[in-house]
Amino acid sequence: MKYLSTRGLPQKKSFCDILLEGLAPDGGLYLPEHYPQVDAHELKRLEEVFFKEGYAALAFNILSLFIDDIPANDLRALCEKTYTEAVFGTPQIAPVRALNEGLFIQALSNGPTLAFKDMAMQMLGNLFEYELNRKGQELNILGATSGDTGSAAEYAMRGKKGIRVFMTSPNGRMSPFQQAQMFSLLDDNIFNIAIEGVFDDCQDIVKAVSNDLPFKKQLKIGTVNSINWARLLAQVVYYFAGYFQARKMSPREHISFAVPSGNFGNVCAAHVARMMGLPLHRLVVATNENNVLDEFFKTGVYRVRSSSDTHETSSPSMDISKASNFERFIFDLLARNGALTSQLFSKDIDAKGYFDLSAHESFKSIEQQFGFSSGTSTHQNRLDTIKQVFEAYHEIIDPHTADGVKVAQECTQDNEVMVVLETALPIKFASTITEALGVEPSRPKAFEGIEALPKRVVVMPANVQQVKDFLIDHVR
Ligand SMILES: *Cc1c(COP(=O)(O)O)cnc(C)c1O
Repeated sequence: MKYLSTRGLPQKKSFCDILLEGLAPDGGLYLPEHYPQVDAHELKRLEEVFFKEGYAALAFNILSLFIDDIPANDLRALCEKTYTEAVFGTPQIAPVRALNEGLFIQALSNGPTLAFKDMAMQMLGNLFEYELNRKGQELNILGATSGDTGSAAEYAMRGKKGIRVFMTSPNGRMSPFQQAQMFSLLDDNIFNIAIEGVFDDCQDIVKAVSNDLPFKKQLKIGTVNSINWARLLAQVVYYFAGYFQARKMSPREHISFAVPSGNFGNVCAAHVARMMGLPLHRLVVATNENNVLDEFFKTGVYRVRSSSDTHETSSPSMDISKASNFERFIFDLLARNGALTSQLFSKDIDAKGYFDLSAHESFKSIEQQFGFSSGTSTHQNRLDTIKQVFEAYHEIIDPHTADGVKVAQECTQDNEVMVVLETALPIKFASTITEALGVEPSRPKAFEGIEALPKRVVVMPANVQQVKDFLIDHVR
């Protein structure tokens, strides 16, 4: 399997070549040159693998369709090391439960940081360690986080050989629980840098450091952001696992997914699964007030927001001004026309701040051909949905999952099961739960008292040179 760029770069690469890379050299995102096809017979086999051998075996079977430069035995061992009950809390890893006949929830947030990003990041940590060791290299990951991504990256990379993580975050702006989760990691290879500023300041610093190419090369700096193909690939697996479970639990004709979405990484994996032939009826994109994606699916116009036009919401992990993985879907929508994709994302967006596909033939059949539809929710919708789910089903869901449930309930058809992805546990966003219900969500045992643990973090002004100096001091 070879990988190509969404912007048409002629050179193709193998999986391990792009594993440690971010963007392609032409600014595009990597995708496989074709999607491996799973026919009815193969689907049956994968279902048996999942129910008889478990999630890790399913992951190996799916990943091996896309990875041909890691020996099969090694890849299988990496999957088995990643997807364990000890790390993900249940033997099923991503169990599906029914709230009612048409509304199911798939739990993706029982990993170490209680958010779905662990599902892929844990695999990435093991793949990185394996590949760096094989190449005899080191990698220093520099990132910016407002919460979930940074902690998932740190928990995935802690103690890994050849890897250090330098994670910037806005000082004092994450929830106390999120701060405790990150700053209580005392591993030698994890460095928390709290920047006196907002999230954008952290991102600007990371960009400035990464744009200094000689410095980046000399200090072997890389990233683990959501555009990394291996992360997306690992997410494909839980759509298969979710489909198999839902199919077994329900006599309804169609299985669909509703996905709380920000950067379009999670739901892009659903798109890949569907392109492989997994019979997913619809893919429902649920956004919060930052409804860039809902606007596109309703109007054909993709309009990037300015930072002053980006809202701070009570589902903060979906607060985006643009959806960084969206280019992958547009490339497929446009029948993989790299020149046109490049025109839209590098020229039109830069010149006008938007592109418009409303008149394009492919947009008119977007739902029939690709299954996509969408919806938006507001803060009040989240509060109402959390309350309604609590009263009807005696369950507490987190605000991001509530975005998904709200949009799912609006559009689920009689012959359809909507599987909503549970992307975080409510304890991470306790203040919104208290606002909705007047009670605090319960806390998993392992997290009791984490706010009182010793912390390792340095506070710094929003100054690029100081961050660079810190890197120099700690890389040697
Ligand atoms: C990251 C995140 C999302 C959004 O996922 P994307 O891949 O960016 O669309 C939703 N919910 C939670 C809890 C997250 O951490």
